[in-house]
Amino acid sequence: MSSLFVLAGPTAVGKGTVAAFIRDHYPRVWLSVSATTRTPRPGEVDGVHYHFVSQQEFDQMAADGDLLEYAVVHGRASYGTPRRPVLEAISQGRLPLLEIDLQGARQVRERMPDAHFVFLAPPSWDELVHRLIGRGTETAEEQAVRLETARAELAAQAEFDATIVNQDVGVAAAELVDLMERHISAAR
Ligand code: 5GP
Repeated sequence: MSSLFVLAGPTAVGKGTVAAFIRDHYPRVWLSVSATTRTPRPGEVDGVHYHFVSQQEFDQMAADGDLLEYAVVHGRASYGTPRRPVLEAISQGRLPLLEIDLQGARQVRERMPDAHFVFLAPPSWDELVHRLIGRGTETAEEQAVRLETARAELAAQAEFDATIVNQDVGVAAAELVDLMERHISAAR
C-alpha cells in the first residue's frame, strides 16, 4: 500500500480547515500545494496555500503531464495537484496528504489505486447546509451550485476507505494524522 492519503468530502464540510489545521500543527505531514486558476483570498500566500496560476499556465501543466489530477470545481476555476512533489514526498517516506475534491480523488484512485481515501463527513446534512450558507463568501447562485455538488458528493462516501466526521476540527485532524501514522508504521 502507498503512504499517500487523500482527503475529500462535500463542499463546506471543512476539508480546507482540517488541512490548514494539519499544516499548522503537524509539520510531519507533507501537505500538497495545489495549482489553481482562482484569485487569492485575503491572507492566502502564493506557494503556501496554492500556486496561483493563469489558465494558460494551468493548461500547460496539464498538457505536460505535470498534474497527478485536475478538475474544474464548482464550474468556476481549475484546481490540480502537481505530480512530482507528491512522488518525491512518497519516496522520502514522508506522510503525504492531498486535500482535493471528489472528481480529483477519483482520478488519483485510477492512477494510484494503492493510496488511501478518507471521506470527511459533516455531523449531519442540516449542519452541512448551515456551514455552506453560514460561510457567506458566495452569492446565492454559487451557494445553490455548491449545495447540488454537496448532495452528489455525500452519496460518494461508500467509495472511500474510511470516514472521519468533522464535528471538531482539531479532533478530525488528530484522527486523520493518527490513521496516517498507524498506516505508515504498520507498513514498515
Ligand atoms: P477553495 O477555492 O475554497 O480553496 O477550494 C475549493 C475546492 O477545491 C475544495 O473542495 C478543495 O477540496 C478543492 N481543491 C483544492 N485543491 C484541489 C486540487 O488540487 N484538485 C482538486 N481536484 N480539487 C482541489
